[in-house]
Amino acid sequence: MGIKANLKILNDELKNHNCRLVAVSKTKPNSMIMEAYNVGQRDFGENKVQDLAKKYQELPKDICWHMIGHLQRNKVKYITPFVHLIHGVDSQKLLMEINKQGEKHDRLINCLLQMHIATEESKFGFDQGELIDLLESDAIANMNHIKLSGLMGMATNTSNESLIRSEFQGLKKLFERIKSTYTIPNLDFTKLSMGMSGDYKIAIEEGSTLIRIGTSIFGERNY
Ligand SMILES: *Cc1c(COP(=O)(O)O)cnc(C)c1O
Repeated sequence: MGIKANLKILNDELKNHNCRLVAVSKTKPNSMIMEAYNVGQRDFGENKVQDLAKKYQELPKDICWHMIGHLQRNKVKYITPFVHLIHGVDSQKLLMEINKQGEKHDRLINCLLQMHIATEESKFGFDQGELIDLLESDAIANMNHIKLSGLMGMATNTSNESLIRSEFQGLKKLFERIKSTYTIPNLDFTKLSMGMSGDYKIAIEEGSTLIRIGTSIFGERNY
């Protein structure tokens, strides 16, 4: 099926939910992004700084660009002028660098803190203790160019649906707890980024507000 038909299916599924679709266009050419753009898609996600910056330059300026991959501190400066939301913030040092670059560009940068919820060791993110330490640190209250908009997580890559569901439930619970517990000036928890092509239906049922979908829109990727 084509991009347009795939988007229609996804948007129909999202209709009665407070959930937005981020079209993950990594490795895909501008022509495919424009196909989605031309039927109204405006949120796109990339996982490499260089590709993100290049596509930003080349494509319409009303696209909201999401950085969804692991972000290295020395590359933050290339995306801070335009990025809409950074999903994968996984350390205080990275957050401090984003704040510094945000100040330079006089922007408030929307960030999601990435939580490690999967059983695989390889996935990035905070554990709960580290997150609490960060939220209770003095540093966080002074980051005036960061907005902490919520949490992001990737479930285990498995066919075990109950495991995926319990990981999403845990993330949602943590999200609600932080939202109701902390009154930090730059904390405004409204976004919960969870769900990809293989598990987005479960994620929506468990309260996701942002699903990140690549394959189910653009087809398989050839790296
Ligand atoms: C690639 C990627 C996605 C999209 O994956 P699909 O399975 O193609 O939908 C979502 N989130 C992150 C962080 C990714 O790197």
